[in-house]
Amino acid sequence: MSVEQSLSQRDCPLCGARVYSGSNSLWRSGRLPAEGWESLSFSSRKARESFHWEYHRCAVCDLIYAPWVPRVDLVKKQVETAPFSMSSGHCDAAQDYADFLMALNEGQTPTDVLDLGAGDGSFLAELQRRGAQSLSGIEASLAAMERAPPQIRSIIEPIFLDPRSASFQEWVGRHSSSAGYLTCFQLIEHLHEPLEVLRAARGTLRPGGYLLIVSHDVSGWVQRLFRSRSPLLDVEHFQLFSKKTLADLLRRAGFESVQVSSFSNRHSVAHWLQLSPLPSPLRQRLAKVLIRARLADCRLRAPAVNVVGLARF
Ligand SMILES: [Zn+2]
Repeated sequence: MSVEQSLSQRDCPLCGARVYSGSNSLWRSGRLPAEGWESLSFSSRKARESFHWEYHRCAVCDLIYAPWVPRVDLVKKQVETAPFSMSSGHCDAAQDYADFLMALNEGQTPTDVLDLGAGDGSFLAELQRRGAQSLSGIEASLAAMERAPPQIRSIIEPIFLDPRSASFQEWVGRHSSSAGYLTCFQLIEHLHEPLEVLRAARGTLRPGGYLLIVSHDVSGWVQRLFRSRSPLLDVEHFQLFSKKTLADLLRRAGFESVQVSSFSNRHSVAHWLQLSPLPSPLRQRLAKVLIRARLADCRLRAPAVNVVGLARF
């Protein structure tokens, strides 16, 4: 199947403005492979490919989004069967997210945490290591789930985040008003219907419960510096949020006390290099140099790479 044959059109996934109403403008032209749709990688820890969709800016709500993305059923199949490569980056990010949640809970270990897009379970494992109880998550990638430690694998359910799917609706109903914390890290960009997913998932929180969400920041320095070579431009990203549009998303989804700010991440030098927009041969040569110099595992914290949203039920 060609990439074009896989596409379906959608209106702005934040405000619903129509594609052909003249209410959006081209933001970045698409860059897609000549080979078929199946050649696109939907593995979250792949090497960078530089392929991405055509992105528009919605003139009504300012969201950067792709009006033409592959159909839900095709993406579901790709995500469920994509290979997963281990990366130390997940563990570093998991510690940063757990630190944030502990600080939010006044230094106490949180309980009753639901994680949307749990991946290889790094975040849930980190919380468990700190003594947290009553944890669970959902994840679409079977390969990612298989990498989770056994005690974490058993609390992650294989569910694709489609608000229309029976399995997702059943999961929301089963966890109705039970969670103290609903977490969602680096996932919201990947969803066909981010607003509808959050509207539905909100029902899992008990009154006063928190939503904690981290996303790339399309208004941040990474995008401004690297522009068309930015790692944010990726076939897995169907929309890209800024502080403004993430806050808008949380309010439209029905959350209250919405706060949005910059989020810094700590990763190994090798991981930052993997994310960099350098040409692949140069990246590989630099990686070998770093390993020989024993610098590959050094941790660096980059400020304001992402945006964090915090809101209450
Ligand atoms: Zn819009």
